[in-house]
Amino acid sequence: MASSKENKTKHSYANLERTEIELQVRPQTLSAFVGQKDTVDALQAYLKAALLRKEPLDHVLLSGPPGLGKTSLARIIANDSHAGFSQVTAPNIKRPGDLAKILSSLQAHDVLFVDEIHRLPAPAEELLYGAMEDRMLDIAVGDGMVANSIQITLPPFTLIGATTRPGDLTAPLRDRFGIRFHLEFYSEDDLILILERAAGIWKIEHEKIALQEISKRARSTPRVALHLLRRVWDYALSESNNLHEPIHAAAALNAFERMHIDGEGMTKLDRLFLQNIAKHYDGGPVGLKPLSALLAEDITTLEDFVEPYLVRRAFIKRTPRGRMLTQEAYTHLGLKKHKTGDLFEP
Ligand code: ADP
Repeated sequence: MASSKENKTKHSYANLERTEIELQVRPQTLSAFVGQKDTVDALQAYLKAALLRKEPLDHVLLSGPPGLGKTSLARIIANDSHAGFSQVTAPNIKRPGDLAKILSSLQAHDVLFVDEIHRLPAPAEELLYGAMEDRMLDIAVGDGMVANSIQITLPPFTLIGATTRPGDLTAPLRDRFGIRFHLEFYSEDDLILILERAAGIWKIEHEKIALQEISKRARSTPRVALHLLRRVWDYALSESNNLHEPIHAAAALNAFERMHIDGEGMTKLDRLFLQNIAKHYDGGPVGLKPLSALLAEDITTLEDFVEPYLVRRAFIKRTPRGRMLTQEAYTHLGLKKHKTGDLFEP
């Protein structure tokens, strides 16, 4: 039987790694950062004002689905304010001491990026309150009867938190971010700009129409677009055997067929997700837990990656009792709902 790890690679690219290759095309300046106009405009002003005041930027919260550019923006903020940058993922902070160590090694004006900040354990989060508000760090020393605490004043710094689930943040933490941006999904035109830039850096010969085909299937997400470009290039190259042969539209379409990605950017996992709701739950409502077991996928992948796109495409509705298929989903899957609730292929 296939392990759940094998299932993941077969069905989805939800757990794309942040590879070296991706780092080569990560934008380093705000001018290379495509789209998100309102966020970029506001950041330009805030950064300029902070530089003039010789102060670090206020703490920033970036929210939005994975792959939309939160980490890239955090790095750009550090670059543009000529500040040091350090990064930690919240689930890696097990004890408040882990966070205290990171905070106490910050230099003046440094940027500390905390990814998945909604997953910070409560005691670590509480430590952050004082650090963000008054630059005070309370550290517990000793044990039992001789337990004590010492206070350290931190240098001025900027905390940048990133989250895919802004609703999971506690109010006291959310309120300590003076600047908050929610990143939007990208238009196909913006994705083409991102792909053209990456194709230039990676030296990928291509026809523009091939990039258009990729952008249509990229779930409005730069990371997915870049990933698809690499895979389409692999398939095209393996057939042409010629590094100088541009990727034609036909080669891109052939690659998508082989990857089982349809014209809407739906993967095998997306289709299985919908089919399972149709076949086993009569269109829903159903919770994510049973679907996660049926699909051998973890809930986070379904919740952060699969669902937002299916909701956006109006294939599923979230209701208080669970997920429900829409008529559009039945049409897309080529299934009809029978009067009795049974399904049949039309
Ligand atoms: P997140 O932190 O939101 O998961 P990342 O910042 O890691 O997303 O972005 C994923 C990749 O997509 C980056 O390496 C970068 O190359 C590309 N990318 C994301 N947003 C943009 C953008 N606005 N312009 C150009 N490239 C982008």
